[in-house]
Amino acid sequence: MAKRLDRIVVVDLESTCWEGNPPAGQENEIIEVGVCTLVVHTGERADRASILVKPERSQVSEFCTKLTTLTQADVDAGIGFREACQRLQKQYATKDRVFASYGDYDRRQFERQCTARGVAYPFGPTHLNVKNLFALHHRLEHEVGMDGALRMIGLPLEGTHHRGGDDAWNIAAILGRLLGGAR
Ligand code: AMP
Ligand code: MG
Repeated sequence: MAKRLDRIVVVDLESTCWEGNPPAGQENEIIEVGVCTLVVHTGERADRASILVKPERSQVSEFCTKLTTLTQADVDAGIGFREACQRLQKQYATKDRVFASYGDYDRRQFERQCTARGVAYPFGPTHLNVKNLFALHHRLEHEVGMDGALRMIGLPLEGTHHRGGDDAWNIAAILGRLLGGAR
């Protein structure tokens, strides 16, 4: 099937994390899938969402709550990882559209966790790395963080940094600029 280029699905993940390596017996797991679609023709952002995912092999540490604001109680109310992947496909047609994220982390974490759990990878073959595109477009020597990119182009950081839904919304704005906005 040909790729649908009507919208780009911007995704930003939050995962369980610690100051260093995971404690014995735990591993990094997705706890939030932030989504925002960019309507290519208009440059508008739509369908902002935050899907909370209940971890099975790890717990939300105090460090993780400080970073993301997410608590164990928040993610305990979330859905399973398999269900979250199915929702992405059904609701956003992620198999047919282009998947974008800021850096390679989000794609790799999906790949890792899908393999580890025997869950079907919810995206198609094409991934846009907005962090890399941004640096190339601006002829930077090094890639910059999302907050730095927003500052460089004079856009506000809306919402809470390190919350997936808000990060996806802000990344979609950066991608919109890179694609030249409305036309
Ligand atoms: P972000 O999209 O930048 O909010 O980061 C995605 C995920 O990467 C977070 O949910 C954490 O699991 C991990 N992460 C980001 N920054 C840090 C950090 N300073 N220390 C440990 N893990 C981090
Ligand atoms: Mg994030």
